[in-house]
Amino acid sequence: MQRDYDVIVLGGGSAGLQSARSILEKAGGFSVLVIEEDRRVGFPEHCTGLVSLKGVSTFLRLNHWQIAVNYVRGAHIMSPSGTRVTVEKKSSVAAVINRPLYEQKLYDIVSRRADILLGVKATTDGRSVKAGSKRLVARYIVDARGLKSLSSRHPQARRWILPALQYDVRVESTDSEYVYIFLGSKFSQGFFAWAVPLGDDVFRIGLASENLVLTRMKYLLRRMGELTRGSLRPKDVRKVIGGAVYTGGLREHVKGTVLYVGDSAGQTKPTTGGGLVYHSRASILLAKALERGEPEAYARDVKRTLGLEILGQLALRRIFNRMSDSELDYMLASIKEIEGEEIISTYGDMDTQTKVILRVGMELLRKKPLFYTRLLLSIVSSIIS
Ligand SMILES: Cc1cc2nc3c(=O)[nH]c(=O)nc-3n(C[C@H](O)[C@H](O)[C@H](O)COP(=O)(O)OP(=O)(O)OC[C@H]3O[C@@H](n4cnc5c(N)ncnc54)[C@H](O)[C@@H]3O)c2cc1C
Repeated sequence: MQRDYDVIVLGGGSAGLQSARSILEKAGGFSVLVIEEDRRVGFPEHCTGLVSLKGVSTFLRLNHWQIAVNYVRGAHIMSPSGTRVTVEKKSSVAAVINRPLYEQKLYDIVSRRADILLGVKATTDGRSVKAGSKRLVARYIVDARGLKSLSSRHPQARRWILPALQYDVRVESTDSEYVYIFLGSKFSQGFFAWAVPLGDDVFRIGLASENLVLTRMKYLLRRMGELTRGSLRPKDVRKVIGGAVYTGGLREHVKGTVLYVGDSAGQTKPTTGGGLVYHSRASILLAKALERGEPEAYARDVKRTLGLEILGQLALRRIFNRMSDSELDYMLASIKEIEGEEIISTYGDMDTQTKVILRVGMELLRKKPLFYTRLLLSIVSSIIS
């Protein structure tokens, strides 16, 4: 059968554009078409845009100063009753990027060498692609259509897709280098709430939860001044953004000549929902596999590089989801007591989290064996049942 392109990428979000870019770089001779259903890349917005500086340069492969609106060097993690654990580095560790601008930069790079169709919805039967009224044939199809694709292929993964809501809020703030994380059932069921500084006294305040997202958001805004001991006092809301985060771990990566990347393959962190670094990294592996003509190697390589970390984070997500407010309070208080803040500040890494959490977990188990053994046993038994 006559081929129209070597590769057709469905979806021109971060994962689709990074994949197209990596394919053009690695498998230089390939002809590539990207099809995006929205008329402008980067919109509608749904992301907070917090990315490790290391991730921006190594995997997003852009200069952070081109896309960053702010930089952060630490996080305040708040327990349900207000115990604050602070983890920090001496200098900035993460950039808050302007996500639409980031995708526009990728679009500029990719559009120099690939065809891009905007405002066209694409579907595939696994062999060809239907783009509007046209049917196109390619050697490989890359499905980067995000959570819509994931949930239609894996209905059982839907329980790990949580609706999210974010407000850009002008605040009276004394603290623009720290992210705030709010734990507890008042803020979220199944995740957490956050406040990320965008600079100029604006914070992106958001949460994801299994239910009652709007009610919880109102509660968070009402309590924020008091919870942060006056560090963040919300004034007026400037922008409202919707979206959905996925915390359910890796899913199918290759089926015949279709390769899945990004949210469509479950390439997000189960602990924080962050996907940009992981899927940008995966896009490089995808391109290498296509260059070798071995699409199935992509699935193996992603498992090898990200599989164990994501599995560890999945276990942690399940443990956190099962902890009551009083257990969370006790945990944060005991992290302070055993100088866990110091351990996390020294060894913590946004993209590889399980090692340091295990380290703190072992320390907690050693110093408070009764409470943590009981907690672990109750969590294990509830997972089994
Ligand atoms: C509230 C929230 C906060 C987040 N914060 C962070 C963060 O701070 N850091 C981080 O790293 N990650 C964060 N994430 C996760 C991150 O945004 C996602 O992992 C990332 O957007 C996934 O990229 P993607 O390209 O796979 O999917 P998407 O960004 O969803 O892109 C999919 C693209 O496919 C297009 N598409 C869909 N269907 C079709 C079709 N039929 N035909 C053509 N095109 C189609 C869509 O229009 C879209 O452009 C956050 C997510 C949410 C919801």
